[in-house]
Amino acid sequence: MISLQGLSKSFRVPAGEQWVLRDIRLDIGKGEFLSIMGPSGSGKSSLLSVLGLLDGDWKGEYTFEGQALHSMKERDRKAFARDHVGFVFQHYHLLDDLSVQENLELPLEYRGVGRSERRERVDAALRRFEIEDKRGLYPRQLSGGQQQMIAVARAALLRPTLLLADEPTGALHSSQGELIMDLLCELNRDGITVVQVTHNPEYARRGQRLIELRDGQLVQ
Ligand code: ATP
Ligand code: MG
Repeated sequence: MISLQGLSKSFRVPAGEQWVLRDIRLDIGKGEFLSIMGPSGSGKSSLLSVLGLLDGDWKGEYTFEGQALHSMKERDRKAFARDHVGFVFQHYHLLDDLSVQENLELPLEYRGVGRSERRERVDAALRRFEIEDKRGLYPRQLSGGQQQMIAVARAALLRPTLLLADEPTGALHSSQGELIMDLLCELNRDGITVVQVTHNPEYARRGQRLIELRDGQLVQ
């Protein structure tokens, strides 16, 4: 489904140019659950940002379901990402001033999903993740694990083709981490392609394939 060929990325630093991704060649199959590990600073988040098209500043070829994203205009790429990619960050990124219900609804509203369908989809997600009782609460009234669950539910609600998770269990206790991993596995069984970054070898093995980054290079 996804193919990266010779993908490279650098940042300008005072000392010159720092390469954070070097000549990455990677194929990700439809429906796959891929785990990425590697030392701090090895380029894992950078790779996810490129995959999720949060970052458009890279070289090489990126093909997604036959679409050559590398030759697409930045604006079209962003639109493509909105339609296909869900993101879960290490630190939840819920909006503090919105309730759980509103946090879940907002991205749907941005995409022009009508009010009644929004309600239906949010209700179904709340039921499915067994968090119906949290609907009216605000993020500060939830545990870290619960907040992250809402963040996963929110990404899943958009029915992405590809779900990217950057250390989704990073700040959590192990029981809550397990819960998040169960959710990701469940979404993957539903057919969503999942790519997760993790420091936890046990969580990494929940995926079907593990790759390792070192100093911006894939070492498998
Ligand atoms: P961690 O496990 O700590 O999250 P990571 O593998 O996700 O690390 P990245 O965040 O991808 O690492 O960073 C890779 C390299 O890119 C690091 O050396 C970092 O300093 C550099 N880097 C990231 N963002 C920038 C930036 N905006 N400007 C310059 N260098 C950057
Ligand atoms: Mg990172």
